[in-house]
Amino acid sequence: MVPNRIAAARTYLNRMNLDAILVTSMENIRYLTGFTGSDGVAVVGRDALWFLTDSRYRTQAGEEVAGFTLSEYRRKLEESAALLGEQGFAQVGFEASSLTVAQHTTLVQALGSDTLVALPGDFAAIRSVKDQEELTSLEEIAGLASQAFMNLIPEVRPGATERQLALRLEWLLRDAGADAASFSFIVASGPRGGLPHAAPTNRALCTGELVTFDFGGVLNGYCSDETVTVAVGSADDRQREIYRIVKEAHDLALETVKPGTSCREVDAAARDHITTRGFGDFFGHGTGHGVGLEIHEKPVVSYRSEETLEEGMVITVEPGIYIPQWGGVRIEDTVCVTRNGYRVLTRVPKELMIL
Ligand code: ZN
Ligand code: ZN
Repeated sequence: MVPNRIAAARTYLNRMNLDAILVTSMENIRYLTGFTGSDGVAVVGRDALWFLTDSRYRTQAGEEVAGFTLSEYRRKLEESAALLGEQGFAQVGFEASSLTVAQHTTLVQALGSDTLVALPGDFAAIRSVKDQEELTSLEEIAGLASQAFMNLIPEVRPGATERQLALRLEWLLRDAGADAASFSFIVASGPRGGLPHAAPTNRALCTGELVTFDFGGVLNGYCSDETVTVAVGSADDRQREIYRIVKEAHDLALETVKPGTSCREVDAAARDHITTRGFGDFFGHGTGHGVGLEIHEKPVVSYRSEETLEEGMVITVEPGIYIPQWGGVRIEDTVCVTRNGYRVLTRVPKELMIL
């Protein structure tokens, strides 16, 4: 249990005028309790804390979760609801984004719909500002993933398939010490680079193509996220021009990163540049996102974002241009917002590499 994190949850609870928050997302449970298993429920009350899990995790919860009253359930939601009922809580917040309709129905039957309050998605924003322990894990996994990519470079050559390279990159990353991949890697070669989220196929790389790799690892629960676009053998003028525009957009967005900058301004710095160069219609996604226990978390860095950067936030900056049937370029780094600016956690150089 980390007192600051519990305090943040209680500040939220008070702001929403609740008696308790029923925490069901495993990332928020891990954040608040330290529990690393895959099933459990945490209840944060105004002056008491409970953690419930099943018999598989009895010992583990005893070791990992301090400061919470522990109990074991056979029927997760029914017994969680019984606990909330026993306490006489009149207003209980729940995470709307991590309960199914069926689970919600079970809770309503036990507690009544007047008791349950759907929390807006911003509850997860209690995790936006990272503490030193989190930053250490984020920096370490970003470094491991970048090194794994650098070790893959000799294998990025004509004839290698997207699938082979995705698998090799994951192998190198796990071998270097990552607990897992943070998502299914993207390896998109030639025209497939025009798909921002292309899954790797059996397509073999050809000389003169761009290839986009989007990859990351997990360490101590924390994710990394980086995208590198390289050229195989050679690059023509159009490929170089589009790469340069994306790199400039990436650099312009990075220059805005400091406490007090709105996430919308970070997005606009990249988007305005790409639009001015005539490719605005080919940059459909947001410029970035927070990274932490989830690969995509608060804050959102897009033109719709309402959030403002604070020291300790960790975000990606990842503009791209995707042209159907031609291909695409995305350049992504993960950065930590520091007192005066930012520190880049991902390590692969972002000048165009011709392999
Ligand atoms: Zn990525
Ligand atoms: Zn990303």
